[in-house]
Amino acid sequence: MSMDRREFIKAAGKLAVLMGLGRGAAASVAEAMAQMASGQAPVLWLQGQSCSGCSVSLLNSAPLSPATFLTKYISLKFHQTLSTATGDMAVNAANVTIEKGGFVLVVEGAVPAGMPEACIFGHEPFTQQLERAASKASAILTVGTCSSFGGIPAAENNPTGSVSAIDYLQKKGIQKPMVRIPGCPPHPDWVVGSVVHLLKFGMPELTETLAPKMFFGTALHDHCPRFADYERQNFARTFGEKGCLFKLGCQGPVTKADCTRRRWNEKTNDCIACGAGCIGCAAPHFAKRSDFAFYPRNNT
Ligand code: SF4
Ligand code: SF4
Repeated sequence: MSMDRREFIKAAGKLAVLMGLGRGAAASVAEAMAQMASGQAPVLWLQGQSCSGCSVSLLNSAPLSPATFLTKYISLKFHQTLSTATGDMAVNAANVTIEKGGFVLVVEGAVPAGMPEACIFGHEPFTQQLERAASKASAILTVGTCSSFGGIPAAENNPTGSVSAIDYLQKKGIQKPMVRIPGCPPHPDWVVGSVVHLLKFGMPELTETLAPKMFFGTALHDHCPRFADYERQNFARTFGEKGCLFKLGCQGPVTKADCTRRRWNEKTNDCIACGAGCIGCAAPHFAKRSDFAFYPRNNT
């Protein structure tokens, strides 16, 4: 996958900005990228109870095209959705990587702790495969809210006893550097930025929930373009109206993520700008009814 010098510096500049390092850091990011390209860091991507949406979101990454990112800068050893191999060949590809160890393990999807047979890879329950891989990994990144906090598979009354990958591994006594990248799906910048940071600059600074501070350090509400409306109590009463979306259930005050500043689809739009409000997809309480007491649900 070739990239000319100009494109390379441009991509490094964009990456530096998305990692919160500023354009001034473009040269060191470019240097880090060049090192990564020469030594291609191994990454193993496993999927449990997931819809694959997190992978699809990554395929929208803009600073580095996904193909460039996945083929030039990291050595993606295995990824279920992207794998061209099937059957025994696919299972072997994952197993050979696990045996070798020393890779960054990316986990997408929750873990059916109470019903291991609900998620099988080859002939092995995902719970077992995850434990094997985690014990040989150099670091673990959970991508998406399901693997980070349980998400939709762990919603009340789910029959699989689903939990987040980090909770599962910690309960099993596996101690490795772990980073949560929540979101349903996570923004591609969050994934690319965290992987690059981990591989070339080491562990990013983390929040109390183990999410990178550069992306999840503050509540959406604090940087919301509708914040002045909130302060003036100028609330929208129905969707489509101008004003703060708090009375329509916006979860911005209790969701830490930078969506209102970063925006989505190459800064085309975001949940609050389009008037939908934030449903808290990157928050630990996402899809958990008991924690939705905050949800105002009234138009008064
Ligand atoms: S729209 Fe949501 S995030 Fe923005 S100010 Fe209102 S409550 Fe806060
Ligand atoms: S604004 Fe809220 S619901 Fe939308 S992507 Fe960000 S965290 Fe998720």
